[in-house]
Amino acid sequence: MIYKTHQDEIQNYLTDASNFRGNAHQVIIPETLLELKLAVEECQKLNCSLTISGARTGLAGGCVPLEGSVVSTERLNRIVKINFDAKEATVEAGVTLTQLEEELEKYKLFYPPNPTEKNSTIGGNIATNASGSRTFMYGPTRPFIKELDLILASGEQLNLKRGENFFFGKYGFLVTDSGSKIPLNIEQKISMPNIKHAAGYYLNPGMDLIDLFIGSEGSLAVVSQARIQLIDKPANVLGLIIYFDDEENLIDFVEEVREESTLSIELPISSDICARLIEYFDKHSLDFLRDDYPNIPQDAVGAIWVEQEFRDVEEDSILENWYKIISEYTNLRDLTWTAIDDVEHKKMKEFRHTLPLKVTDYLSQNSKVKIATDAAVPANNFRKYYSEILDILQNSGCKYLVYGHIGNSHLHANILPRVNEEREDLLPLYDEMIDIALKYGGTVSAEHGIGKLKKKYLRQMFSDEGIKTMKNIKEALDPSGLLGKGNLF
Ligand SMILES: Cc1cc2nc3c(=O)[nH]c(=O)nc-3n(C[C@H](O)[C@H](O)[C@H](O)COP(=O)(O)OP(=O)(O)OC[C@H]3O[C@@H](n4cnc5c(N)ncnc54)[C@H](O)[C@@H]3O)c2cc1C
Repeated sequence: MIYKTHQDEIQNYLTDASNFRGNAHQVIIPETLLELKLAVEECQKLNCSLTISGARTGLAGGCVPLEGSVVSTERLNRIVKINFDAKEATVEAGVTLTQLEEELEKYKLFYPPNPTEKNSTIGGNIATNASGSRTFMYGPTRPFIKELDLILASGEQLNLKRGENFFFGKYGFLVTDSGSKIPLNIEQKISMPNIKHAAGYYLNPGMDLIDLFIGSEGSLAVVSQARIQLIDKPANVLGLIIYFDDEENLIDFVEEVREESTLSIELPISSDICARLIEYFDKHSLDFLRDDYPNIPQDAVGAIWVEQEFRDVEEDSILENWYKIISEYTNLRDLTWTAIDDVEHKKMKEFRHTLPLKVTDYLSQNSKVKIATDAAVPANNFRKYYSEILDILQNSGCKYLVYGHIGNSHLHANILPRVNEEREDLLPLYDEMIDIALKYGGTVSAEHGIGKLKKKYLRQMFSDEGIKTMKNIKEALDPSGLLGKGNLF
C-alpha cells in the first residue's frame, strides 16, 4: 500500500477533467484488492471521508475530494480472466478501456460501450454508467455488467451477480459476505426517464439490485472487481460521414435512420439500415475542424457520422441502401466520406475525437472554461428541444457549437465565453437549457453524471421527494456519509 501525504505529491488527485479542485490530507494507493479493503476499513475506523479516484477523466468533479482521503485504483489494473466461451472478462476496477480493448483484440472479442475517453477505468465507467457513440445500439455500461465485487463504507464486502438480487416491489435487501442484512426501500415516488440517463441513483420497483451501484458515482460502495459481458468482434463495419446542405433535412434523415435502425434491431433482416451509432456535428463544429480537414464542404450546415456492422456478403446491398437514403436528404451526397477498412475507420474516429481537442485548445487560450450541456430528451421531443436550445445559443452572442449523440437525442451544446469573466453571466443560459430538457421529459445528465457540479439540477429533476428516496438508500449503505462526500447531494 502506498501512502502519499505531501501536498505537492497529491495535487493531481485534487482535480479531474472538469477542473474543479478540492482538498485531501492523503492519497492511498492499494496494490491488491485486499489492500483496497484495508484502506476502506482504515477510513471507516477513523471516520474519515473517502473519495475513490479512477483515471480522473470525469467531467463532474465526482472523484475530486472535499476532505479526508483519496483512494486511487491506479494499481488495481489486472485483467484477471478472459472467458472466451462465455464471452466474459473479469477485471479489477483500475483497468483502463485502452488496456481492455488491446487484450480483447487478441481474442477477437469486443466490449460494446465506447466512451470516448480511453484512459478512463472500468471502475469509473461503472460508477458513472458511462456511455459512448455505440450506446445508440448497445446501451450504456449498465447492461454489460454481470457481476460486481463491492466494498461498502463499513469495509464489508458484497458480491452481486446479475439476476440474483431484486427489489420485491419497493422493498429489497442486500446480504454482505459476512452475513449483515441491509434493508433498502423506494417508498417515496420516483420515476426514471426511459432515455439515456446517468443522473442520480437508478431506482425502479422490481429492479436488479446490481443496477443500483452502476451509476452511483462512488457514493454507495467501492467497485473492486467486475465481470463484464463481451460480444464477438463484428466482422465488418461500414462508416459514413454525410454532409448536409439543409438543417431540416439533416434532422429528417436522423429520424428516418433512427426509426429504421430501431426496427432492424427488433426484427433483424441482414442488409437493412441498422446504424450502431448516429453522431452529429453542427456547422460550428465543422468550422472548428476545417483547418485540419479542408475537404469539409463550405456549404455544409452540419454532418452526421453513422456506422453499421455487416457480414461480407452484405457489403454491396448495405452500401446501396445507405447511398439511396443519403441521396434523398442531401445535395452534398457525392461528398459522403465512406470507411470500410481499418485505416479509413481510424481517420474517421480521429475526425470525431479531434473536435473536443480543438475546442480544448481554443479554450486554453486565456484559460477559458466552456459551458456544456449533457442533457438528453425523448426522441419524439427532440426537434422542439433542439430548436429552443438553438434560440438560446444564437442569442448568447458567443461562439457556440453543438455535437454529440443525436441517435440518443443527446447533444453537447457548448457555449464558449469570449473571456472567462463572462462565464458567470452566461451560466443562466445553462439553467435555461436544462429547463427546456426537463420540460420535454429529459434528463439533466445522460452520461457524465452529477458529481459535485450538477447537484442543483438533480434536485430540480427529481424534486425533494425523489431526492429523499435516494438519500434513504445512501443512509442504508453508508450511514456515516463517508463515501464520495459531496457527490449527488
Ligand atoms: C475527452 C473526454 C471525453 C469523454 N467522453 C466520454 C464519453 O464518451 N462518455 C462518457 O460517459 N463519459 C465521457 N467522459 C467522462 C469520463 O471519461 C467518464 O465519466 C468516465 O467514466 C470516468 O472514468 P474515470 O476512471 O476517469 O473515473 P474518475 O473520473 O476518476 O471518477 C468518476 C466517478 O467514479 C467514481 N469511481 C471511480 N472509480 C471507482 C470505483 N472503483 N468504485 C466506485 N466509484 C468509483 C469516482 O469517485 C467519481 O465519482 C469524457 C471525458 C473526457 C475528458
